[in-house]
Amino acid sequence: MSNLDLLVIGGGPAGLSSAIEAAKNGLSVLVVDEGVSSGGQLVKQTHKFFGNEVFFASVRGYEIGRRLSEQLNSLDSAKIQNESSVVAIYPDGILVHDMKHDRTSLLRPKKIVLATGASERFIQFENNDLPGVYGAGAVQTLMNQFGILPGRSVLMIGSGNIGLIVSYQLLQAGVEVKAILEASNRIGGYRVHADKVKRAGIPILLQNTILRAIGEECVRGAVISGLDERWKPVGGTERELAVDTICIAVGLSPSIELAAQAGCEIRYVQELGGYIPLRDEDMRTTIPDVFVAGDVAGIEEATTAMIEGQIAGLAVVSDLTKKSNKERLTYLKNTIRNFRSGPTSSKTRAGLSKLGSRFEEVSFTKDNQDDFTKYEGKMRPVIECFEAIPCNPCETSCPANAISIGDNINSRPSIDYSKCTGCGICATTCPGLAIFMFRENKDGTCSVGIPYEFLPLPSQGQYVTALGRNGDTICKAKVEKVVKSANKTNLVYINVLRKFASDVRHILVSSREPEAILCRCEEISIDQVKKAISDGYTDFEELRRYLRISMGPCGGRTCRLNTLMILSEETGIPVEKLSPGVFRPPSIPVSFKALSEGRVDGCEE
Ligand SMILES: Cc1cc2nc3c(=O)[nH]c(=O)nc-3n(C[C@H](O)[C@H](O)[C@H](O)COP(=O)(O)OP(=O)(O)OC[C@H]3O[C@@H](n4cnc5c(N)ncnc54)[C@H](O)[C@@H]3O)c2cc1C
Ligand code: SF4
Ligand code: SF4
Repeated sequence: MSNLDLLVIGGGPAGLSSAIEAAKNGLSVLVVDEGVSSGGQLVKQTHKFFGNEVFFASVRGYEIGRRLSEQLNSLDSAKIQNESSVVAIYPDGILVHDMKHDRTSLLRPKKIVLATGASERFIQFENNDLPGVYGAGAVQTLMNQFGILPGRSVLMIGSGNIGLIVSYQLLQAGVEVKAILEASNRIGGYRVHADKVKRAGIPILLQNTILRAIGEECVRGAVISGLDERWKPVGGTERELAVDTICIAVGLSPSIELAAQAGCEIRYVQELGGYIPLRDEDMRTTIPDVFVAGDVAGIEEATTAMIEGQIAGLAVVSDLTKKSNKERLTYLKNTIRNFRSGPTSSKTRAGLSKLGSRFEEVSFTKDNQDDFTKYEGKMRPVIECFEAIPCNPCETSCPANAISIGDNINSRPSIDYSKCTGCGICATTCPGLAIFMFRENKDGTCSVGIPYEFLPLPSQGQYVTALGRNGDTICKAKVEKVVKSANKTNLVYINVLRKFASDVRHILVSSREPEAILCRCEEISIDQVKKAISDGYTDFEELRRYLRISMGPCGGRTCRLNTLMILSEETGIPVEKLSPGVFRPPSIPVSFKALSEGRVDGCEE
C-alpha cells in the first residue's frame, strides 16, 4: 500500500462507486470502512430503491450494497478493509485504526475520496436519555441487520423518508407503530411512502411533537403535544401514548470531520444538511488531492451518491493517468442533472446554487389522462403515484411498453391501456407500492391485486380484512390467488363487491380464518360444532366432552342454548326433546383460595 493511488474513506454507495470507477481504470485503491460489511446505509435497508435501472432502481438496499461490494472485490487492484476507521488526516499521512485487531497504520495515498456519509440528528426533550430512545439508524441496524426487535410498540418522531420507511419496516417485523409525529404542517417524505404506512393503519400526526419520555429505568410511554404555526406547544393538547420505544428520525448531518481535518474549506448550507466541504462539479474540494461524494457532500439519496462517487472516481483517474473519459463524465453529469430537476430536489438545487453549481428545474408531466374506464372488464393496473419523484421502474419493467415516463425521470407515469396485458409486473416492481391491479367482474364483484410485503401470506380461498387508504376497515374479502414474486413484493388478488373496490388498498391477514364463534370461552366455532354433529356427536353432553363447549368461565350461559338450537337444526329433533346437559357447580368461576378459606355456616373450623 506504499504506492496507493486512491484511499476511499467510507464504503457506502458513494465510496464503493468511486473505488470501482478508479480500479476499473487500473488504479490501486483501498476502501476503509467502519462497518462489519460494506454498503454503508444500504446494508440495513430492506426496501426497494427508487431511481433508474442503471442505478439499481427497484432493487432492495442490502442487495445493492452486496452487488457493489462484489463488483469491487472482482477488481484486482482494489481492496476493502472493513471494521476499520480513519481517525485522523495529518499532513504526513492518514491514520487508520483497525478496530478488530486494535492496531493503527499510517497511509500516504496520492488521492483521497471522502465518502463518510452522514450522522443522525437528535432532538431535545425531557428524559431523552432513557433506554428505549433510539435513532432510526440504530433501529434499522438492530432490526434489519441483526434481527433484533427494538421493542413492541413504537412512537416515530419525523415523517421524512427515513421515518416513513423505518415505520413500515417496523410493521413488517411485527412491531406496532402507535403514530408518526411531524412538527411541520406537511409530511416530509415521498407521498408513496406515506400512503404505504397510512393504509397499514399508522396515523401521521402533523403539527405534533414529543414533550417527554415517560419511565424511570426505560421508556414506558411518551407525552406528545400539538404545535402552533411557530412550532410552540399548544397548552391543553398534551396526551400520553403508551409505548416502549421512541424512534427519532429528524434528519441527517454530513459527517465532515475528516474533511475539516484535511483542510478543506467548510461552509454551512442549511439546504444540504449543515456544514459541508466546498467542492466543484468534479467533486474536488478546495484541497486539490481530496474529493468528496455522497451524503458528506450534502444530504441526498443513494442514486446521487453513486453518481457523485463515479464522477469523483473519474476525476481521480484523469488526474493520475491524464486520461479523461469525457463521454462518460458528460453522461453522469447529465444523469444527475435529470435526477435533480424535479420538485422534490428543490432544496438540493437551492443548496448547490450557494456553491456556484446551477441545477435547473425542468418541466415534467404533472397530470396524466388515461382511458381506464374504457377498458372495463380487463385486468389492468391503477397507478396511484401522484407526486413527481425521480423514479421509473414502472416504465422500464413493463414488457408491453404500456407505461411511459419520458425523458425527465421526475415525470409522472402515464399508461396506454390498449397495450397492457394485465401481467402485474409493474405492480410488483414499483418501489412505492403505488400500483394496484383491477378488474370488474360480470357478477358485480371486482378483483383487486394488492402488492403485499408482509407475513404471513394469505392463501387462496382465505378470508382477509380489506382496508382503505387510511387503514380503515372496508369489508371482508376472499383471496382469489396469490402471485409470489422473486423480489418479495407479492401480489394478493382479492374479490370484493364493486362498490368497495376503488377504496380497497391494503389487507389485514389474520393468522386464523374469520369464524363465527359459538362458545367464546373455549373459542369453538359454529362450523366445528356442525362438523362434530355430522361426525356422530348428537347429544349435548357428548359435544361438551368432545369440544369442551360450555366448559369455560361462563358455564354455558352464552353457548348452551345456541348449541342446542344448532343440534336441533342438524338432527331434526325439536329442542324441547333434547337434553340440556348437566348444570355443574360452580356456576361462575371461584378461586381455590376463596374455596379453601371458606367457612361452613355455624362451624368454627
Ligand atoms: C432509512 C433510510 C432510507 C433511505 N432510503 C433511500 C431510498 O429509498 N433511495 C435512495 O436513493 N436513498 C435512500 N436513502 C439514502 C441513502 O441511503 C444515502 O443517501 C446513501 O447511503 C448515502 O451514501 P454514502 O455513501 O454517502 O453514505 P453512507 O451510505 O452513509 O456510507 C458511509 C460509510 O462511511 C463509513 N464511515 C464514516 N466515517 C468513517 C471513517 N472515519 N472511517 C471509515 N469509515 C467511515 C460509514 O461507516 C458508512 O459505512 C435512505 C437512507 C436511510 C437512512
Ligand atoms: S400490467 Fe403488465 S403489461 Fe400492464 S402495464 Fe403493468 S407491466 Fe405493463
Ligand atoms: S409508479 Fe412508477 S414512478 Fe411511481 S413509485 Fe412506482 S415505479 Fe416509481
